Amino acid sequence: MKPKVGIFGFTGCAGDQLMILNLEDELLELVGALDLKSFTMASSAVEDSEYDVAFVEGSITTPKQKQKLEEIRKKAKLLVAIGDCAAWGGVQASCNGILKVEEKMREVYGAPDVWEIYESKPLSAYVKVDFVLPGCPIEKEEFLRAAASLLRGDLPEAVDYPVCVECKLRENGCLMLEGKLCLGPLTVGGCKARCPSLGVDCIGCRGVIEGEARVKSALQVFKEAGFKLDYVRARLRMFAANYPEILEVKG
Ligand code: SF4
Ligand code: SF4
Repeated sequence: MKPKVGIFGFTGCAGDQLMILNLEDELLELVGALDLKSFTMASSAVEDSEYDVAFVEGSITTPKQKQKLEEIRKKAKLLVAIGDCAAWGGVQASCNGILKVEEKMREVYGAPDVWEIYESKPLSAYVKVDFVLPGCPIEKEEFLRAAASLLRGDLPEAVDYPVCVECKLRENGCLMLEGKLCLGPLTVGGCKARCPSLGVDCIGCRGVIEGEARVKSALQVFKEAGFKLDYVRARLRMFAANYPEILEVKG
């Protein structure tokens, strides 16, 4: 029997779902191997079902989303957070802990209570997440590898090294030595150091390496290199605002 799969999206740009649709060469084979019950970006045909794997994109920002996420969790054997919004709350979380929800609402809509909304939170704030596929958006190849493991019933191997490792493998010079604020030392590898390989400093779009990152030490290094803490904080918060140590960084 084919594994039952659902692909869902909450608050985000839908870029991760698009990356799945963009698997041009592999998409037909992939879809043929699955019993795809729900993928509203690809088809309006949605079946209510249990799922062997639920892939979920986006952050949770409303009570209705929280309820829907909890329903998905109840029906799914494995729940996989895809993309930075689902993993960390996304760019929309960058003001969490700095501006209150009401202030943000007033700023955008002119009133503090247009809707009931939450601060943008990752899926793990509300339900158990079995695996995280990082990225903004996710890497196609990484998704395929992870999907293959998950559909066999195994959890994929998580990347536990920073972008710096991939810089070394590609024999890139270190951008920090050129005076650029590169977040590679704190950021989950897996993108093959795409940006530094083009001379562009990493902005941390794959999120912070959980349990491995040394945020305080990195801050010290950045400060010693002459970067203003305000600027460093804004950069760190862009993709990982809900990471506990980053929430604590004051500037
Ligand atoms: S993680 Fe990035 S690509 Fe994915 S939904 Fe959020 S903003 Fe879009
Ligand atoms: S180098 Fe950094 S910003 Fe660029 S793709 Fe990789 S993780 Fe994202």
